[in-house]
Amino acid sequence: MNVDFESLLRNLRNILPPERISTRQAERYLYSYDATALEFYPDIVVFPTNREEVVGIVKLAGKYGIPIVPRGAGSGMSGGALPVEGGIVLSFEKMNRIKEINTINHYAVVEPGVITSVLHREVEKVGLFYPPDPASRNFSSIGGNVAENAGGLRAVKYGVTRDYVMALEVVLPDGTVIHTGSKTIKDVAGYDLTRLLVGSEGTLGIITEITLKLIPLPRWKETFLAQFSTPEDAISLVPEILSIGLPSTLEFIDGFSLRAVESYLGVNFPGTEGVLLIENMGNRGEVEHWAGELKNFFEKRNVKFLRAENEEQREKFWKIRRSISASLSKIKPNRFNEDVVVKRSDLKRLIAESYRIAKKHNILVADFGHAGDGNIHVNYLHDRKDENERRRAWRATEEMVEEVIKMGGTVSGEHGIGIMKKELLRKQFTEEEIELMKKIKRAFDPDNILNPGKIF
Ligand SMILES: Cc1cc2nc3c(=O)[nH]c(=O)nc-3n(C[C@H](O)[C@H](O)[C@H](O)COP(=O)(O)OP(=O)(O)OC[C@H]3O[C@@H](n4cnc5c(N)ncnc54)[C@H](O)[C@@H]3O)c2cc1C
Repeated sequence: MNVDFESLLRNLRNILPPERISTRQAERYLYSYDATALEFYPDIVVFPTNREEVVGIVKLAGKYGIPIVPRGAGSGMSGGALPVEGGIVLSFEKMNRIKEINTINHYAVVEPGVITSVLHREVEKVGLFYPPDPASRNFSSIGGNVAENAGGLRAVKYGVTRDYVMALEVVLPDGTVIHTGSKTIKDVAGYDLTRLLVGSEGTLGIITEITLKLIPLPRWKETFLAQFSTPEDAISLVPEILSIGLPSTLEFIDGFSLRAVESYLGVNFPGTEGVLLIENMGNRGEVEHWAGELKNFFEKRNVKFLRAENEEQREKFWKIRRSISASLSKIKPNRFNEDVVVKRSDLKRLIAESYRIAKKHNILVADFGHAGDGNIHVNYLHDRKDENERRRAWRATEEMVEEVIKMGGTVSGEHGIGIMKKELLRKQFTEEEIELMKKIKRAFDPDNILNPGKIF
């Protein structure tokens, strides 16, 4: 890259005040990594506060032929926000206003830097609900959620981020501003560019405003923690539990993950090798009826279970689930954290394959995740500094994905492809299918300025 940085910086200062442009080593480091823990240094980090500034920065990037990488909170698991070819990282942390919460038409208009749980809190204050609930909600941004089409714990009943995006304002790589979708419930006018942009991982356009659908706040919750003596016993009950009535959340934790959490949190579940955490929300009558049926279901099958009696106990259950990632890092510093998805009837086969492959490559594996969606995080643990172990873990990951494809599943349910799964994507799609995706990228970004080196 042969860029006249002095000239570029002079021009950037005409768009942004100097305190919102950084070339300092410390800041370049802070914006060099995400949840993958890989590092790629940007040359410049900028912090726009409005759309006009974003347009100006994007036009300059095009003029100087320098890559531009949008960044939310940097919690991505596939490396989407990493500036793999250097260039400008455009951080949205200062574009974090909730512009409108419309209580008549049930939508919110937000800037991309709003933290997911902040939006949850604000809409709940007025009796509304934004269901998408990634486990990273306390630090991920809505812009990052939209760009990754984030899923989360409540997707079983309520769907994923895409199901709530009504309209977008987007700055294209040449600086053109476009608007997709509308604030109406129905809209089939033209191609659905909103759905194309959601999940495009910051490679097609830079999202500067998002209109999100809201629904009335469910008023009642019931939560169960069921314990099993094998992970297979737990996972094979998932389809039957779903046929009682859709819960809002149905999470699986295997014995290995549970042991990690036990030593991390100081809790104790002796003899338990599989856990299902199940929650339902809705109106009181409906949810209490569902809870009664689930209780009978467990009792008939002699399943050991706890039912949360209050908010404090519920919080204890969820703390177990939310602590898995941190607990696993105490065992090994790195993991290939897959987010494969299979049909729910294939879940038992999925986890059996994950253990078989781990044994074959003599590698540790932890399985947990959104069983109700068929979306399991298969984690092959390793230490990146041990090249042999890293290679075995990667081979295990590849074989796992091959098995998933054989089952008619998909390589990614929510984390996206980024740089981590480029090779795995090729196992799922043909050359022709990938070429069609590349043509879409070229139609939006012919000069490959925006987030280059991702997905393909
Ligand atoms: C502990 C933990 C738990 C997690 N749990 C879940 C989970 O349950 N479900 C789930 O889906 N994910 C989960 N994730 C992954 C991650 O939090 C999500 O992918 C999240 O959506 C990323 O948001 P972010 O703001 O951190 O985005 P970043 O990591 O900053 O960026 C992600 C991608 O979005 C692009 N992007 C960001 N902002 C914009 C914008 N304004 N315009 C265009 N592109 C943009 C970036 O270029 C990048 O490609 C988890 C991560 C962690 C660390």
